[in-house]
Amino acid sequence: MSELLDFFNARTEEMVERLEHIVRFETPTHNKEYVDRLGEYITEVCESMGGTMTVYPLETVGNLRLATWNADAPGKPLMILCHLDTVWPVGTLETMPLHRDGELLYGPGALDMKGGVIIGLEAVRGLVDRGELPDRPIWLLFNGDEETGSIGSRELICDLARQCGLVLVMEPAAAGEGLKTWRKGIARYTVHTKGRASHSGNAPEAGINAVIEAAHQALILHELNDLPNGTSVSVTVIHGGIAMNVIPPEASIQVDVRFLKASEAERVDRAVKALQPVLPGAEVIVEGCIDRGPMERNAQMVRAFQQAQAIGRSIGLEFGEDGSGGASDGNFTAAMGIPTLDGMGAGGIGLHAAHEQVVMSSLPRRAALVAQMLVDWDVDAVIQG
Ligand SMILES: [Zn+2]
Repeated sequence: MSELLDFFNARTEEMVERLEHIVRFETPTHNKEYVDRLGEYITEVCESMGGTMTVYPLETVGNLRLATWNADAPGKPLMILCHLDTVWPVGTLETMPLHRDGELLYGPGALDMKGGVIIGLEAVRGLVDRGELPDRPIWLLFNGDEETGSIGSRELICDLARQCGLVLVMEPAAAGEGLKTWRKGIARYTVHTKGRASHSGNAPEAGINAVIEAAHQALILHELNDLPNGTSVSVTVIHGGIAMNVIPPEASIQVDVRFLKASEAERVDRAVKALQPVLPGAEVIVEGCIDRGPMERNAQMVRAFQQAQAIGRSIGLEFGEDGSGGASDGNFTAAMGIPTLDGMGAGGIGLHAAHEQVVMSSLPRRAALVAQMLVDWDVDAVIQG
């Protein structure tokens, strides 16, 4: 074990207490006031560690906050990307109480991702306390609406990330405290079909059945699946018809699309937008688009992972890599071509579930890894290959 890892291990209890403290701030995405309350606390913490906080006000969700260290130092900033919101409504602490059990800390949002928030803060705090903060710009970005798709913050996140040489996304670690080197992207569509109403007894032949048209479209959409290549096209909801004895004039289907590759997103997007009616006289209207590009495990990602793995080994940490079918803010930054590593947060299981839990000993391991990466990271080696 390295001296740096020893240093952070010795701070485990403090880190857990700080995590418990921020879990007690309940921060559902839709409650701006509560998310901002935690944001104000995080501002105090960052300023107490010598950081400079810039607040980007948002109207309906928690403000976006950027804490910077060494803003004027040379080189591209390294960004630690966190979100303060959780999926849990106010009052969840009563039914899902914060508590420790052996090696584990349970509580709403403890894993996703307040553990990651603490790891990011403690990595910087550790370097400040050791006098080892490197002479390069270090950014900690706190988002307040990640769990609902970062709709309010997405553009700002992208504008800031564009300037960075590396983005570390503090989402929960993969199994075995691995990093996440791929995430699927998402596209969502609603396909409306229109026909013509008619009495099903008196004049069924005069109608154009929008439900049958929707059924045709559902089967055509299903054919777009390419599961071996990581592309799923799932017809998940179907609505149609107005009464038992009326040939339905309208129907709609919802389609959830996930993909590993941008080229696959484009293939499916083109096909969905080109859907044509099957029944004579029917109409097909498509709404929707690619929502988030994939975080692709491309050559740049492999170089970034290998560098992280080498830095980890230099301080006595071994970990692998995995991915996720779910999206994060890492999808945005990776899709822009910015070197991004995800799953940099705490180890544990049960995100978005009643048994959400953090492995407490993962906090110092990850803080040591992030700290050493901030010191050693070679931006050019990843970007240029
Ligand atoms: Zn999360």
